[in-house]
Amino acid sequence: MKRILITGAAGFIGSHLCDRFIAEGHEVIAMDNLITGDLKNIKHLFPLERFTFYNHDVTNFVYVPGKLDYILHFASPASPIDYLKIPIQTLKVGALGTHNLLGLAKEKKARFMIASTSEIYGDPLVHPQTEEYYGNVNTIGPRGVYDEAKRFQESITMAYHRFHGLDTRIVRIFNTYGPRMRLNDGRVIPAFMGQALRGEDLTVFGDGSQTRSFCYVDDEIEGIYRLLMSDYTHPVNIGNPNEITIKDFAEEIIKLTGTDQKIIYKPLPKDDPMQRQPDITKAKEILGWEPKVGREEGMRKTFEFFKGLSTEELEKTEHRDFTAHNKK
Ligand code: UDP
Repeated sequence: MKRILITGAAGFIGSHLCDRFIAEGHEVIAMDNLITGDLKNIKHLFPLERFTFYNHDVTNFVYVPGKLDYILHFASPASPIDYLKIPIQTLKVGALGTHNLLGLAKEKKARFMIASTSEIYGDPLVHPQTEEYYGNVNTIGPRGVYDEAKRFQESITMAYHRFHGLDTRIVRIFNTYGPRMRLNDGRVIPAFMGQALRGEDLTVFGDGSQTRSFCYVDDEIEGIYRLLMSDYTHPVNIGNPNEITIKDFAEEIIKLTGTDQKIIYKPLPKDDPMQRQPDITKAKEILGWEPKVGREEGMRKTFEFFKGLSTEELEKTEHRDFTAHNKK
């Protein structure tokens, strides 16, 4: 039995990771400051003896008694609406939080993994994105607080690896979806599904020709798990290469949800990447991993989850407004 610290444990991916490590028979120490996470994602784990939760902000000194085998740093706001609302916290958790947790990993001689992101490629000029691509990021744009924090996080992790010999892993996560996504996080999947359930038209930003490649959360967790268990210390893309334009995706959602809503067009947010598709050659070769869940099946399961939310939860969704940023 291993002892694992997971930060961002009450979040979407963090909570699925907790489930996975508990299912593997390990002990999980979950940490979250609940700014964007929600205890309802992990409340089913509270009765377990092998599960402990700390309500803690990792940008402050982190103390965990006892041994730790793995530290998985998954705490961070992770949607454009969050970067606008809490930009400083986004920078701090990627920079100061990562530094604190690296110190803890060094002290405990634990393997350390960070949740990096396709956002480090920015609005990519290389397609699909390989791990060797350095990216095209606007440091001072609305997404810069996330992109640069994550780039710094990769740098400091590699510095601890090289300078202190720390055992490290870097996963670059591409758009991931599934149950427990936050309905009001402004991301396209909860946005479209919430709109369909409320009987509103689907808001496509720009002309909808921008692309994304969506990975179902079970596949993502499997990829992350395999990378952690491997001995590969350089970044690995984990995502689903099946790419679609946002306009075609909106049409798929209309079909799936069986609504008679229409598509309406809104201005494209600043620095919204035009295309995104992971090259997963490395994950295939090194981890023997590739996604198994197709978009139709994954979206169906995800819609079931959103359908299960209360009317109250459905109504409190806020709308994403980038107008102020577009003016600057
Ligand atoms: N998007 C959209 N309508 C919405 C929300 C998002 O057309 O109501 C677009 C957004 O502009 C982007 C894509 O969907 O091009 C994916 O957005 P998301 O925020 O999910 O993720 P990211 O841009 O970080 O990949």
